[in-house]
Amino acid sequence: MSLKHVKHWVFDMDGTLTVAVHDFAAIRVALDIPATDDILTHLAALPADIAAAKHAWLLEHERELALGSRPAAGAVALVRALAERGCRLGILTRNARELAHVTLQAIGLADCFAVEDVLGRDDAPPKPDPGGLLKLAQAWDVPPAEMVMVGDYRFDLDCGRAAGTRTVLVNLPENPWPELADWHAEDCAALQRLI
Ligand SMILES: [Mg+2]
Repeated sequence: MSLKHVKHWVFDMDGTLTVAVHDFAAIRVALDIPATDDILTHLAALPADIAAAKHAWLLEHERELALGSRPAAGAVALVRALAERGCRLGILTRNARELAHVTLQAIGLADCFAVEDVLGRDDAPPKPDPGGLLKLAQAWDVPPAEMVMVGDYRFDLDCGRAAGTRTVLVNLPENPWPELADWHAEDCAALQRLI
């Protein structure tokens, strides 16, 4: 299978379409989360009132980051090329859906994604759970094997593997997870040369 024939693409957002700016270590310190814990998993296990307060802090912090988002190298040209080809494009992010839309506006790609195809942490269980990808597969009425998940972290690849999609790793110079990535591209410009 060649990427040239793939018509259904799902992108991670932060660090994939944007330059990564989240300082997860600082977020853990601010929210009193152990360094080894996954942030969203940790918050999900807290009493509801404490979790709500910490989620509110996180949302405000991430809103500032979203407003200042900058596109990753080659990301705008890649997404526009896929959209012009008539590909169906989605976003699956652990960020909030509302902030995903803010981010897409900030980097000038909002018109390339149908509003309902942008899934945030409010819409699906967080990656690496495959729920979000399966939701898009169902909405698009396409077998997961004909979809590709593009991301910059192993959660994106694990999520694709669990859902049965193809996987692409971008924005890392080397590929630390060769068993999880069907393709590896140094950045979105390199990925565009494969489509
Ligand atoms: Mg990412």
